[in-house]
Amino acid sequence: MEKIVRTLRVRVKTEKLTKFKKDRMRKITGRDTRIIEEYVKIIRKEEEKVIRKISKQGEIRLKVHKGKLDELTLTTTKKTNKKKRTVVPYDLKKKFPNCSHDEFQECRDVAVQLYEQGYNKKKNRKRKKGYILPPVKRTRKQLINKNRFIIEHLPKGKNTLSRCWVGIRDSLDTQKRKKRTHRRLWIPLEMSEYHQKEIRKGQVKSLELKYNSQKNSWWVNFQITIIPQADLYKKKKVDPSLLPPAVLGIDLGEKIPGAGVLLTSTGKISPNHIFFWKMKEWKKRKYIYQQKIRRLQRKLAKKKNTCKDKRSNKGYQTLKKLRKRYQTLSHAYLYAFINELWKDIVELTQDYNLVVVVGYPKGVHSKLRKKVMNQDYRPQNSSTRFTRKKVHPWNYYQIVTLLRRMCLLNGLEPERILTLQEYLTSSLCSKCGRKTIRPVRGLVYCSHCHYTLHSDLTCAINIGKLFLRFLFRPRASTLVDYLTGQHFSLTFYTSFRGLNQWLK
Ligand SMILES: [Zn+2]
Repeated sequence: MEKIVRTLRVRVKTEKLTKFKKDRMRKITGRDTRIIEEYVKIIRKEEEKVIRKISKQGEIRLKVHKGKLDELTLTTTKKTNKKKRTVVPYDLKKKFPNCSHDEFQECRDVAVQLYEQGYNKKKNRKRKKGYILPPVKRTRKQLINKNRFIIEHLPKGKNTLSRCWVGIRDSLDTQKRKKRTHRRLWIPLEMSEYHQKEIRKGQVKSLELKYNSQKNSWWVNFQITIIPQADLYKKKKVDPSLLPPAVLGIDLGEKIPGAGVLLTSTGKISPNHIFFWKMKEWKKRKYIYQQKIRRLQRKLAKKKNTCKDKRSNKGYQTLKKLRKRYQTLSHAYLYAFINELWKDIVELTQDYNLVVVVGYPKGVHSKLRKKVMNQDYRPQNSSTRFTRKKVHPWNYYQIVTLLRRMCLLNGLEPERILTLQEYLTSSLCSKCGRKTIRPVRGLVYCSHCHYTLHSDLTCAINIGKLFLRFLFRPRASTLVDYLTGQHFSLTFYTSFRGLNQWLK
């Protein structure tokens, strides 16, 4: 089964920490960031030895060999590969004598992650010669693996400070009678019921201690891996092979956020099988916010030459606040949208053996920009304003991944939620498959068979049809999910061949 990894942010009750604990936490994380910086420096110096190239789906990616990095930096007392490693070119243990082997490896993992991310992004942008990676920010954070902390929930009334505590092994030594001992740092957490429920769902694999300087407080990020096991059909005690097969094609659009059509074995669209997820309230509020932001931007752009200090200017401060509020609002509505989608999907699983297919448009932003740029009568600088109107405020990738995650977490099999690349789906007739014209925006008219339909619905039908066409491909044995690149065997979909009347 597919694993799902998610992070959970929990605030530490910073105001109730003692001075000693605050000091300790500051010291630990400060030292770790210094070690991470050291690791990044070493990787940069020894690029030829440590880095290898891996091609993944045609793209070349760089990977850091962790074992070889250890050979350069850490000495060992255990016998590995027949020899004790007593001398290494960059001895980190001499530089940081109080740090243990495990802690070095945790810092190494963070450094490798930082390096790989930075490098892969940079490569796509066609980097200039002599460009150096941005330095590691002093974010004050520490990654801690699962065997070095405990989470404890106390019963009611036992402790007045907090009911949930996390005990981290204090990695700084405290000397007691010439013996090195490690204490546990107990940190009080602000855990709500939601947080506790989320933690119980999966296993906590690691933990990140982080300091937020703006809010002046400490945070803990739990990394939780969840393996979804429950099967939705089994929960409802229905055998999916006995139900009639159906395909739900979903099109994500600009004007209407979501439109879906259910393709059943009747071969015709009935009004019950058409879905629109319109989100009217969101549209109104979005419009209001965009207008406000636009007005302010225009106003500030005129004053640009006179205003020097942007931080102290009131206009810029309100603009920043507005943008942030708009972002959080859009995020909340995005989740509401996905919940609505999921409700309809659950209802459909009762009556049908269901597969959900989502069309994933590729390169919408870049295509639109090109279109606008080519028109001569518009100056090039204004292109962004026109594109901003047309492009969806939500990220398609975000919508599709969130929907997929929602389905998997609630017990839908991964084979049942698919993403396919949208190609010409909006401009082909949903009945005969020929090219069409659009007399009015939002309508598709086919001059061959005189069939008119809503453009988003034609999209949705065409996506469903695309899926069915994949099933009848000669010599194919698997179906590839566009987003994740997973292969699903076609034997799972054998009952869906009964829907072939849609392809005639
Ligand atoms: Zn037609």
